Amino acid sequence: MKVQDIAKELNIEANTFLSFLRDQGFRQIKTTTKLDPGTTTKVKKQYKLFIEKKQSETVELPEKTIPFNKESIKVSELTQLFEYPMGQIMKIFLQKGLMVNLNSEIDQETLIEIAKDLNITIEIEDLSVENELGLKTKVMEIESESITETDTTTVRPPVVTIMGHVDHGKTLLLDQIRKTNVVDFESGGITQHIGAYQITHNNNKLTFLDTPGHEAFTSLRARGAQITDIAILVVAADDGVKPQTIEAINHAQVADVPIIVAINKIDKPDIDIDNVKQQLSQYNLLSEDWGGKTIMVPVSAKTGEGLNSLLEMIELVAELQELKSNPNSACKAVVIESKLSSQKGPIATVIVKAGSLKIGDFFVIDENYGKVRAIFNDDNKQVKVLYPGDPGELLGFSTVPQPGAILASKSSEKECKAYINAQHDTKLTDKSLSQKMSVSLEALSSQAEEGNLRQLNLIIKADVHGSLEAIKGSIEKIESKDIPIKIIHFSTGNITENDVLLAKASDGIIFGFNAEPSSEASQCAQKEKVTIKTYSIIYNILDDIQNVIKGLYKIEYEEIEESQIQIREIFKFSKIGKIAGCYVSKGKIERNHKIRVIRNGDEIFSGEIDSLKRFKEDVKEVGEGFECGIVIKGMSDLQVDDQIISYIIKEKKVL
Ligand code: GDP
Repeated sequence: MKVQDIAKELNIEANTFLSFLRDQGFRQIKTTTKLDPGTTTKVKKQYKLFIEKKQSETVELPEKTIPFNKESIKVSELTQLFEYPMGQIMKIFLQKGLMVNLNSEIDQETLIEIAKDLNITIEIEDLSVENELGLKTKVMEIESESITETDTTTVRPPVVTIMGHVDHGKTLLLDQIRKTNVVDFESGGITQHIGAYQITHNNNKLTFLDTPGHEAFTSLRARGAQITDIAILVVAADDGVKPQTIEAINHAQVADVPIIVAINKIDKPDIDIDNVKQQLSQYNLLSEDWGGKTIMVPVSAKTGEGLNSLLEMIELVAELQELKSNPNSACKAVVIESKLSSQKGPIATVIVKAGSLKIGDFFVIDENYGKVRAIFNDDNKQVKVLYPGDPGELLGFSTVPQPGAILASKSSEKECKAYINAQHDTKLTDKSLSQKMSVSLEALSSQAEEGNLRQLNLIIKADVHGSLEAIKGSIEKIESKDIPIKIIHFSTGNITENDVLLAKASDGIIFGFNAEPSSEASQCAQKEKVTIKTYSIIYNILDDIQNVIKGLYKIEYEEIEESQIQIREIFKFSKIGKIAGCYVSKGKIERNHKIRVIRNGDEIFSGEIDSLKRFKEDVKEVGEGFECGIVIKGMSDLQVDDQIISYIIKEKKVL
């Protein structure tokens, strides 16, 4: 198809489209140049995505008013006038279909139009009057624009995760994609599973997470590491949208990761691609050829049909995401898999998100540090350096790091130690931070009251479809002007570990209606501090949501007395100091209780227990009617007949 005809279809000026194509790297191209069908489809998609991206970039620009007193202005002078980079200004011309170069002169009208897109108001001043009055003497000395490339960042490969329902072909697709990297196979490279691999396609590097499914994706995210740049949603054309397809969509959408749909198994008879597209349209994924924004590529992981197009689409989306990193900067990498090898010690696969990592580099990870001793790529070959976007297996950790942990390179061992010490100092703060990170109804409620809750994210699980729909419908009816309620996932069945991870990753909470958490889900929720609330009356769910939104829950703390203890004797030891010989007259004292010391009816001290002993043994608790030895932190003058009260502090929800 000719360039000018494609432009006509896209409803833009042929010259504008030509300039867009040149920006995309097409050389010696004219409006009459014919493009082959594959390239035609590609550039059309490229242009649509480009325009969508521009439209979605609705960043609030600061309002400005600029006086202007000339008849016209050179395009090259606009950077100085607007105080915006030339690239950004040129894009506005392009979007408006105006063909200009740096030397073009534009009139006042065009200037006003362009300025509007930057939130700038141009105030035209009457030149003649001002000159007469001698008010404007300043001549704008505007140098012609020189675009200096000071930025040393380079494009990095995208990190791609393949998701979808079981048996829809994720594994086979990953294998096939890997096989497209023929060079390595020809050279006899032994592929190994390190959790990720990289291929080169059309001279572009692409990194794939080798663990299909959204579980790994979300568990990394729940630990704070957003590694995926693009999600490929595999949907089998003969099976359509299934529960895990929906889960995967929700996980990717919550993470704000662009989705490309691979409609798989098109080699099979009796398939219905339109049916898949129709089903997906109910989940906010409308295919491009149906006027939507989602790229959907029919493929067969079995025959390889469509894989090239899929890879091209990945390249396209990656290009539009402008994934860049400076290879000369310090490295940040995310652990995606780790294990303890009997021969090599702790090893982990990392994907570099920024900078480069070389053999010999020192790094910190969690509270440990290490030195890169060896790096293996996915072909089991030793390499000396990993660049941005590269996966690699590393040796040199002091302990096995957790998936999701972030490795940061440092210039020396000394710097690593200093960093870890500084982390120790802030550990207390971090603890309180992690507690804050836990999302409870009460915490959400106080956030709502303080005006800090931007959105209430909910995951709803119910025993049967009917209840689920009823709950969803009722929640959607709740009027909440200030705090939007977003049901990020809903399905029937019990609450799974996946639900918990999704809640963690999105600061959401889980409501189960006649649905209980599995034991793994409960453990995970406890560990990740995710709130699961279960109900058997729908009204109670709605009531709780209303209360959160209104900011009604308050947390109050109350002290609950656990035991009363009499001091009967004081023993002195040269090493430990004084131990109070006590008798538990009421309740049970536990080692972790808080205590108050009462003397003659007055409280003289409050604090914590240092040690609790029965005879010479340290014990966790001592019951009523028993004797024990107690040392109190920071209190050395306990006396006979002093009374100790032990207590705990409990959070109380108040409405
Ligand atoms: P996963 O559970 O999503 O990883 O699915 P698999 O990759 O294990 O594939 C499930 C089954 O579907 C296997 O028997 C594959 O051979 C088969 N399969 C996968 N992709 C295709 C395809 O494009 N065409 C056909 N005919 N079969 C496929």
